[in-house]
Amino acid sequence: MSFSYQRSSALFKNAQKVIPGGVNSPVRAFNAVGGTPVFVDHAKGAYLYDVDGNKIIDYIASWGPMILGHAFDPVVDAVKAAADKGTSYGMPTELETQIAELAISMAPNVDQIRMVNSGTEACMSAVRLARGFTGRDKIIKFAGCYHGHSDSFLIQAGSGAVTFGSPNSPGVTQGTAKDTLLAQYNNLEQVANIFKQNEGEIACVIIEPIAGNMGCIVPQEGFLEGIRSLCDENGALFIFDEVMTGFRLAAGGAQETTGVKADIVTYGKVIGGGLPVGAFAARQEIMNHLAPLGPVYQAGTLSGNPLAMSAGIAMLSHLNSNPNIFTSLAQKTERLHKGIEAVLTEKGMPYQINRYGSMMSVHFTDQPVVDFASAATGNNDWFKKFFHGLLNRGIYLPPSAFESYFLNNALSNEDIDKTIDASREVVAEW
Ligand code: PLP
Repeated sequence: MSFSYQRSSALFKNAQKVIPGGVNSPVRAFNAVGGTPVFVDHAKGAYLYDVDGNKIIDYIASWGPMILGHAFDPVVDAVKAAADKGTSYGMPTELETQIAELAISMAPNVDQIRMVNSGTEACMSAVRLARGFTGRDKIIKFAGCYHGHSDSFLIQAGSGAVTFGSPNSPGVTQGTAKDTLLAQYNNLEQVANIFKQNEGEIACVIIEPIAGNMGCIVPQEGFLEGIRSLCDENGALFIFDEVMTGFRLAAGGAQETTGVKADIVTYGKVIGGGLPVGAFAARQEIMNHLAPLGPVYQAGTLSGNPLAMSAGIAMLSHLNSNPNIFTSLAQKTERLHKGIEAVLTEKGMPYQINRYGSMMSVHFTDQPVVDFASAATGNNDWFKKFFHGLLNRGIYLPPSAFESYFLNNALSNEDIDKTIDASREVVAEW
């Protein structure tokens, strides 16, 4: 049986007339895999229900936020109750203190947190704060790590990591690009060299502690610890971008699972329960530099929005009082990993599966995938076939090889086994 996506196709044509590319965020357009994006009607638990009446098992969870499944009742109820009281005030509410207390109690090494409206804003503000705190301009980021679409981060690796970055989106000026220095993920030596060549100039290193934007890439032993030491030796701040990993891998995110301490941590996705929220957090000494206490300016009309804070409080409270969820998610992810591994091994295909907690990715290559360059060795034709084969069977994986799966806790073992069986059917056709 093959699923039909006719109405999605018609809606996509209409959308393209009035929205650039038909989407409000590029990866939704299926450019990497071809075909028509699926238009959602509603979602509940582990399933998306699309406009063609298909019920689809979801492995993206809105790119991470819906960790407890879609339309999770406590979150929905909290949003409804908040909406009845008004949707925005532009004035302080107790909700903001409540979510701050909750988040800080869960996240290690932070004293204060500032709410914003997206992961992009969180990372952009974190870097500004690091620059303001250190009085330095340059930052180090890693090829293949995504920290949102603000100018400093849209820089691709040039011929060498030690050279100045060059913009990879028109509109990012050379002036901005020159302050972003690039290194390869899992290459500590390069980071050390960049520090050496820019002595006293590096404000911060920003990293996805477990990368999820080139597939799922796990830091090798000593990599994060090594950067921590380099930052300490050079008076630079270490920023963990936990927009994906925060409140997903553990209550304390990647800081907890890796045991490495960050100076500034950024959040997004799960912290908003599916509403537009980001946040950045640090110890008092750093946060004191932020307006209105200090000179580093940062603001937002809708920051701390009552609907968003209510959703976030409901989400974080549930995770905080049920830490077994993180174990359960990891077990489900392992089940999927082992199942797909068996299917691809039986078929005799080259593959790598990377997994960490409830994040995972499948790469059709025989090389270990440890950074952007090795992730790019994956066979995209096979990836596309795998993606569409599963979509035709009602299973939704990320529509790009450079994205991670995000499992949600509403997924049952039966859903996962169905996915494994469908994978077997898909590769049997090749
Ligand atoms: N940082 C990471 C690690 C992300 O994965 C993303 C988005 O996927 C962002 C930052 C940007 O977040 P947002 O899309 O909410 O602006």
